[in-house]
Amino acid sequence: GTASMSEAVEAAERNLAHNYHPLEVVVETGEGAWVTDVTGRKYLDCLAAYSAVNFGHGHPVLVAAAKAQLDRITLTSRAFHNDRLAPFATALAALAGKDMVLPMNTGAEAVESGIKVARAWGYRVKGVPHDRATIIVADGNFHGRTTTIISFSNDPDARADFGPYTPGFVSVPYGDAAALEAAIDENTVAVLLEPIQGEAGIVVPPADYLPAVREITSRRNVLFIADEIQSGLGRTGATFQCDNVGVVPDLYLLGKALGGGIVPVSAVVGNHDVLGVLQPGQHGSTFGGNPLAAAVGLAVVELLATGEYQERARLLGARLRASLDRLVGFGIVEVRGAGLWAGIDIDPALGTGRQVCELLMERGVLAKDTHGSTIRLAPPIVVEAAELDWAVEQLEAVLAEL
Ligand code: PLP
Repeated sequence: GTASMSEAVEAAERNLAHNYHPLEVVVETGEGAWVTDVTGRKYLDCLAAYSAVNFGHGHPVLVAAAKAQLDRITLTSRAFHNDRLAPFATALAALAGKDMVLPMNTGAEAVESGIKVARAWGYRVKGVPHDRATIIVADGNFHGRTTTIISFSNDPDARADFGPYTPGFVSVPYGDAAALEAAIDENTVAVLLEPIQGEAGIVVPPADYLPAVREITSRRNVLFIADEIQSGLGRTGATFQCDNVGVVPDLYLLGKALGGGIVPVSAVVGNHDVLGVLQPGQHGSTFGGNPLAAAVGLAVVELLATGEYQERARLLGARLRASLDRLVGFGIVEVRGAGLWAGIDIDPALGTGRQVCELLMERGVLAKDTHGSTIRLAPPIVVEAAELDWAVEQLEAVLAEL
């Protein structure tokens, strides 16, 4: 009970690096949109593991796919073919309207892979002089935690003391297409953007921004890489947030929900003219494309191929947004988002995002703050409308008691 709870928290404090500051809840089980802690208390999971659990905890179809594959084979390495990988790649490419997939494991690896592919494309196809390639990114970006990726972050916590930094990146204001075009020169190989900046606080750019970026990058012979690791795969009410603004990037970076919340699965998805630059030996991963990951990934793609989850996220998201908008001016300064994904700025005079999340937890809602006074709500798409309404009521109650 409570004793095992505080023991678990103390053990975590003692034996885990302190690179996270988790809420004091020790989760034991999960089903659908709900998790249960070691004392038997239930919570509505409004983080969904940063959208890696879009389909809910223990989705029966995904668990069945994983269990079936566990009894067949789990790891072969890419030194050999496995019978699960090509079906996964074919289905994922079709879902994205592209023809090739580079399978990796984590989001950061997909980003690193996209960077490598863009640079190789720059030298081999565009003709950029050796080692001169630059990639344009946006201020406020979050693309992962590797040394190269944090090199082009402007979050001091993400960067400080982790240098020397990888060169070759130029950062411009997010949402400003003119600034982006002005930063392009003959050595620019790619523009790398989140279609919505998730970790920055669910920052949605102006509606004409991504279409303008697409037009500019096409005209200037620069690749457009969309990091849809958090925004993609149903969350925003579409397969990709790019779909919502009518844009097709050259490369999609996918992760999180691609593994169904069961195994880490990420991918770079694009066409042969770009992804085809990679030759044997130039990139790889021991676990990337393993049969367990591919079996789960295929089941995820099949869930998305029906369009049912995208539709559900769109409908539930409209409901969530309407009820949150009513709280603006009552402890909430601003609400942003798309689909079932909301960034909520708490009035800093009332308290911090962390305080709001702690009080929400006491009321049975798990959420996560970002950048001081923002909280985000991104429950599994399987959440029921009444549960969503209840979560907003809890937020309303928390704002009243602050
Ligand atoms: N890209 C985006 C947009 C993300 O939100 C994240 C994780 O939050 C990543 C990349 C990194 O993914 P991972 O933590 O799996 O490396």
